[in-house]
Amino acid sequence: MTRIDDLPLVRSTRVGRIRIHALEAGLQRLDGGAMFGVVPKPLWEKRIQPDARNRIPAALRCLLIEAPAALVLVDTGIGNKEDEKFRDIFGIANEGAPTRLEDAIRATGFGPTDVDIVLNTHLHFDHAGGDTVRLEDGAIVPAFPGARHVVQRGEFDFAHSRNERIRASYLLPNVDPVAEAGLWDLVEGDATVTEGVRVMHTPGHTPWHQSVLVESDGEVACFLADVCPTTAHLPLPWIMGYDLEPLVTLESKRRLWVRAREDGWLLVFEHDPSVPWGRLDPSSDRPALAP
Ligand SMILES: [Zn+2]
Repeated sequence: MTRIDDLPLVRSTRVGRIRIHALEAGLQRLDGGAMFGVVPKPLWEKRIQPDARNRIPAALRCLLIEAPAALVLVDTGIGNKEDEKFRDIFGIANEGAPTRLEDAIRATGFGPTDVDIVLNTHLHFDHAGGDTVRLEDGAIVPAFPGARHVVQRGEFDFAHSRNERIRASYLLPNVDPVAEAGLWDLVEGDATVTEGVRVMHTPGHTPWHQSVLVESDGEVACFLADVCPTTAHLPLPWIMGYDLEPLVTLESKRRLWVRAREDGWLLVFEHDPSVPWGRLDPSSDRPALAP
């Protein structure tokens, strides 16, 4: 069973001339059935062992990108605002100063105030929870006050629609203090965020979910986020029960795997409990990582 101490705080590599860092912002435990949708437990439990409460460990892996003109942080984990009951249900381990995310950023030689752009793939609590921080006096403020915060406009509006199926996943204290500070930069569709960093609409998990491309010198890395949260989700039909539009996820993945295989993309997995990244094996006709 993966424990937080098994995960190095930071692992780094290069995409062309751009340095990227996988930041291990902690672990959570999510219901195994919900993580694998219609895949039967006898199949998925061979890949990831559940605990006594049927939960599987999921990393809270964020990506720090040293783009030429900006330091970009992709997703922010869960943050420090949730109570003990919430932290127990989701098995959250992300302690640090104020969370393990900030510790990981400092381990790269930067500090939280150096971040120029926070890029959220979507606004679920395990992706945008660290956008804001609860101070000792109880006030909730942006955790990266010097950063422009990028998300799809559709995702921002959807998070505020509060329908019964989605509202437990969208916690507004993660989002609204950033709005009050005037820090949101809402984009529509595929867009360049800064030199070397683009967002790509990859709907299905949510209707306006986006993935992130890092491009330099002909090399490409893709931060997949929840279109494919772990290496166990590489096969096309292995789609999370959490996804609002699973057939749309299927087509997002199908499109991605064609390009990822042809162009040798480095794929970054946000929730894989151990593997931060890898490339598709071009000699395999099924989506599998190269050894
Ligand atoms: Zn997620």
